[in-house]
Formats: sequence, structure tokens, C-alpha cells
Amino acid sequence: MRQTIDRFADLCETAAAWEVDEISFNPLGGRDRPAFFPSHQLEAAAFERFRNELPALRQRMAARGIAIVGDDRYLDRIASAIAGQARPIADCRPGERFLFIDIDGRIGPCHFTLDRHSVRAGPDFGRDGAAAIPAHLARNRAAQPHPACSDCQQTNLWGKFKRAPKGEPG
Ligand code: SF4
Repeated sequence: MRQTIDRFADLCETAAAWEVDEISFNPLGGRDRPAFFPSHQLEAAAFERFRNELPALRQRMAARGIAIVGDDRYLDRIASAIAGQARPIADCRPGERFLFIDIDGRIGPCHFTLDRHSVRAGPDFGRDGAAAIPAHLARNRAAQPHPACSDCQQTNLWGKFKRAPKGEPG
């Protein structure tokens, strides 16, 4: 967030002292909190500074055996969010490589689209059990496209946990 991004390197140093293996990061959410978000959201200049300093920080951490994950595609995704630029994903292939399960037992691609795309464990799956989840999700997704997919905010699809310089398509 705006008030903490410049202390990320300090946080990494602290985490290094705890002997962690891997560090990930993501911007503060909160667009649903209009009284809070505008004064705490990331600013473009601060994020650009963060991005420019990240390679050197990564090298320092790597020398201590710690990976800071998140590839270029993830950094681009964050920059787009700050700039208000939408980034769609045409087909995230829900259930094939990842799932989201909420506290009420709804299973879907992400929490943004549970209202239209989710299934529930049990009767929804029939005899095929969990192996049928991708087909169910794909059917629901095709039947009821969701506006959230026109600006997909599911960060794990954007290379959040990747170490490679460039991520694969989501
Ligand atoms: S918002 Fe993203 S993760 Fe969620 S269903 Fe749409 S494309 Fe998939």
C-alpha cells in the first residue's frame, strides 16, 4: 500500500532473519472500501520505483537463498491496475490448474465470479466426483460470462508466484 511500499526491502530483511525461503507480494485490495482505498492505494511513481529497485533486492535476497517471486507479467498486471487499465483473460480454464473455495463451500475459479460460475461439492459433481469440476466450471462460465473476466484480478493467473522472468498465459 502507499504507506508501506517503500519499506518492502526492510520487510524482506526481517523475513530473511526468520529464514524464510520465498517471499511474494501483492497490492492492497480495497476498492470496495471507498472511505479507505483512495488514500491508501498504490501510486504509479512509487510502484515504478519499487519495480526498478526490485532486481537488486532480488539479488541480495537470492544471495541468502531467498526467492522473491512474481514475474514481469505480474508486475505489468499491478501497473495496469494502478493506471486503471483493464486486463481480460478470455478463458482461465478453471479447475484445471487451480480452484478457489470459499467459506460457504462454493467452488469456482476465483471469488469474483462465484455468483455465476461456482459449483458445490456433492450433488453437482455426480459420479465423477472432483474430476468433474473443470467441466462443470467451464459449462457455467460459457453459459454466464462474468464482467469480472474483462479485468481479471485473480493474481495467481498473472505470474504472482512465478520465478521466471516472463509468465505463461493464464
Ligand atoms: S475473473 Fe479471472 S479467474 Fe475469475 S473467472 Fe474470470 S478469468 Fe477466471
